[in-house]
Amino acid sequence: MSFATGLICRECGSAYPSEARYSCENCFGPLEVNYDLDAAKRVVTRASIAGGPPSIWRYAALLPDPGTEPVDLGAGWTPLRRSTRLAEVLRVRELWLKDDTRNPTGSFKDRVVSVAMSSARRLGFTTAACASTGNLATSVAAHAAFIGWPSVTIIPSDLEKSKIAMTAIFGGTVLGVEGNYDDVNRLCVELVAEHADWAFMNVNLRPYYAEGSKTLAFEICEQLGWRTPDQVVVPLASGSQFTKVAKGFDQFIELGLVDGAAPVLFGAQATGCSPIATAFAKGAEVVTPQRPNTIARSLAIGNPADGPYVLDELRAGGGDCGSVSDDEILECIGLLARTEGIFAETAGGVTIASLRQMIARGTIDPEKSIVAIISGHGLKTLDAIVETATVSSTITPSLESAEDALRFHQLVAAS
Ligand SMILES: *Cc1c(COP(=O)(O)O)cnc(C)c1O
Ligand SMILES: [Zn+2]
Repeated sequence: MSFATGLICRECGSAYPSEARYSCENCFGPLEVNYDLDAAKRVVTRASIAGGPPSIWRYAALLPDPGTEPVDLGAGWTPLRRSTRLAEVLRVRELWLKDDTRNPTGSFKDRVVSVAMSSARRLGFTTAACASTGNLATSVAAHAAFIGWPSVTIIPSDLEKSKIAMTAIFGGTVLGVEGNYDDVNRLCVELVAEHADWAFMNVNLRPYYAEGSKTLAFEICEQLGWRTPDQVVVPLASGSQFTKVAKGFDQFIELGLVDGAAPVLFGAQATGCSPIATAFAKGAEVVTPQRPNTIARSLAIGNPADGPYVLDELRAGGGDCGSVSDDEILECIGLLARTEGIFAETAGGVTIASLRQMIARGTIDPEKSIVAIISGHGLKTLDAIVETATVSSTITPSLESAEDALRFHQLVAAS
């Protein structure tokens, strides 16, 4: 049972029922899902959660009402792994990797889509749609296929081939827009006005969609043995994941489910699309949009909807925001793979490179616990690495040729 009570305006606090509404009638502010935490407190316990399914739906009490049953492809309950080898390289005492590459379609977006599609079905929608930098489109197409819905996913036409293929395979309609994500998003806002019966996950269903990200915080706490970590590094695109991870920690603390204080949250961006990092570094009040140019396509949102809220949280919490080059992203995809056996997409490279950067400038404390969110699988962005990650040597099928190559790579002593 869900303890969601309806929607509430993040700016003026106006309340609305749990309907398909995403902006406030009074002030046009964004809406979010509100909960009766006092009632939840009497019912939701560590044991009640631990007895739930191994998916995000173990936290159903703190998610929007999914209706009769959730649209559940198995998102969430991904491993939180203690790092030893990467921690050693980065010289930190306690590093944990939240491995969200393990979701059904290989990215954290399955969390938000499972929640948004469930709400969409409860509200009577019958078509799923979204504006996407790639991963959301894949997840929407997959979840729609799972329940037999048509889907319309709208992406920049020049996305990674692997991401387009992974979306198209589910059989929905994929529209490639000649433009960047910000163009796609503008178009989708216009489409919502024309097709009010389509559930655009991250536009008219956005309040519900966003709630799915809280489950990252819930899982991290539960997997750490019901304690909060000290510091969490979160990749930033629109900033939705970041603000809802913060909300998730706050709710668990308010419910008394977890020991420890709210963690300090740190953002991670690619320099080629770093409007939030730039505003934070400058001490600016507003986030100035940027035209994205980075290999981290999943994070390439130049005009992030939740940017102002991320800035507020970074400042109030004493956090910081990384900004890393494409070369550093590629290097850190390799570093993570070589030290931990985890193959991440470019966004994971952004997270690890930003973590390293903020340790170096002393804003992340190496003596305190750290969680890094690895939000997407490397197979999604093969394009980014196929040129460099190749065979070590090409040889003929002869022992001599093999031995030559092994000597060259210093696996056997030179004769
Ligand atoms: C979408 C996405 C994010 C974060 O997106 P927000 O819009 O900030 O919630 C992070 N990592 C990956 C791989 C993504 O696809
Ligand atoms: Zn309002």
